[in-house]
Amino acid sequence: MKIALYPGSFDPITMGHLDIIKRISSIFDTIIVGVINNPNKKCLFSLEKRKEMIVNVLKVENLLKKISVDSFDGLLIDYSRKKNINVVIRGLRATSDFEYELNLSLMNKELYPKLETFFLMAATQYSFISSNLIKEVFDFGGDISKYVSPIVLEELRKIKK
Ligand code: ADP
Repeated sequence: MKIALYPGSFDPITMGHLDIIKRISSIFDTIIVGVINNPNKKCLFSLEKRKEMIVNVLKVENLLKKISVDSFDGLLIDYSRKKNINVVIRGLRATSDFEYELNLSLMNKELYPKLETFFLMAATQYSFISSNLIKEVFDFGGDISKYVSPIVLEELRKIKK
């Protein structure tokens, strides 16, 4: 059984994240989308809401059979060890992602040598989007419907009201 962990803040899940999830779903037997509970990072959505949105988006895509959604605090390597995960998935958008991701994967490898990080290049049409940019554009009234699921759009609208 090949289990892969796709970790992130997912504040909120975007089409870029979903594209990565879809692409890895045909490669690994089981995927855990791991929402990081990092008290040092200020998120717009609560941990529970971020998880709920991911579950609902994956349900619509009929992807919940082999994908589960979980959350974890603390180090990714501790969670991976506990769950017997040897593969972590990360997405790369631009060269600006590279340096951070390189250091992160090297540090994780140092702390837990069995862990491999696999990188997927972002799809062209989503390569410039991030959860932060989506929230900013939405805040100023821009159309983000191409970049998030209607489920996420609805949640953003609820917060803005
Ligand atoms: P984090 O705070 O850990 O970076 P994010 O939710 O921002 O969490 O991102 C989770 C993962 O998804 C990261 O590997 C990030 O590079 C990747 N990612 C984010 N946006 C996109 C996108 N538009 N296309 C592909 N990968 C993406």
